[in-house]
Amino acid sequence: MSDKKLSFFDLTKDDFREILSQHGFPGFRSAQIRRWVFSRKTPSFREMTDISKSDRAKLTGLFGESVFSGRQVTETASDDGTKKILIEWPDGHRVEAVLLRDERDHRTGCISTQVGCAMGCKFCASGLDGFVRNLSRGEILEQIVRLNTLLPEPHRLTHLVIMGTGEPTLNLDALLPALAEATSPDGLDIGNRRVTISTVGIPGGIDKMTAADLPYKLAVSLHAADDATRSQIIPQNRFFGIRPILAAAERYFRKTGRRVTFEYILIAGVNDSAADARRLAELLNRKTAIVNIIPYNPVPELPWETPSARATLAFVHTLEEAGVQVKVRFRKGDGINAACGQLRRSYRSPAAE
Ligand code: SAH
Repeated sequence: MSDKKLSFFDLTKDDFREILSQHGFPGFRSAQIRRWVFSRKTPSFREMTDISKSDRAKLTGLFGESVFSGRQVTETASDDGTKKILIEWPDGHRVEAVLLRDERDHRTGCISTQVGCAMGCKFCASGLDGFVRNLSRGEILEQIVRLNTLLPEPHRLTHLVIMGTGEPTLNLDALLPALAEATSPDGLDIGNRRVTISTVGIPGGIDKMTAADLPYKLAVSLHAADDATRSQIIPQNRFFGIRPILAAAERYFRKTGRRVTFEYILIAGVNDSAADARRLAELLNRKTAIVNIIPYNPVPELPWETPSARATLAFVHTLEEAGVQVKVRFRKGDGINAACGQLRRSYRSPAAE
């Protein structure tokens, strides 16, 4: 008999119930196990103490020691409470997921949607080795559950950002069912409005999200206010240009009524001048857009630099003067390679060689 196990998180709730019933488990077991996993943060079958020993042994036979398919390779923590984990899947490929905590007591999970990334943004560590494969629905959900399980009782994840490795709009078929479980009352019960999907800005991908009438927030990685600059750092921009992306974001706003966040990483000498700030203000619809300024997080292999705090504040000030709503996100996780894609690169897996 093959010892390939079933993947708990790849099964829908109904499929899980069905499989348990086929194997002769009592009807209430599926809800009981889901409660252990999602509410009681107990992934290991052995520790599900109100389940009979024989059923626990049967579950281990079907799924393995725990509901997780992957193996956690490392966990790193920084002083600001950021934790980063690297997970290796049975095929040897690895992804990273990050837990961020802030002064407002937000506990935010940042998760990956793909192994590697095909977008090739020039400033980003995730795309340096190219694209490997999409993650499955279960692999996405497992990252979220693992981050939630890291939190000491009675804490739970309060927010989710789809800002790890990968382009989410190219893997919506796996991402959306995973998010449905993460936000479901009998899943992790994270508020819909506390989930943000960040895209490099593919108009067709944004339109797919609009058509699905999602309850989530949309963030677009704009990072430049003119096509020449944007194409220099985001090669995908050559295919679409900024205008069609803004038009798609506007359609998302009209359908959902939720303002769209435009992320703008400030890179010294590339996109951080006063003229850039003024162009950005002219480009955006002040009523529907929020700008999130993020000082660039340097990647050792890459030449880009972070502007000074003074230059950052001047940029923010120019936007505010022009009536744009601005948030500034200072870096978290310094010292633990928490910048996008860095951990995965510093711990190469055999599959990545
Ligand atoms: N592909 C999606 C989501 C993953 S990247 C997207 O492009 O939005 C999440 C965010 O991190 C994006 O805004 C991305 O441009 C940004 N990012 C990537 N590398 C970074 C770095 N070194 N410093 C700061 N932000 C970075």
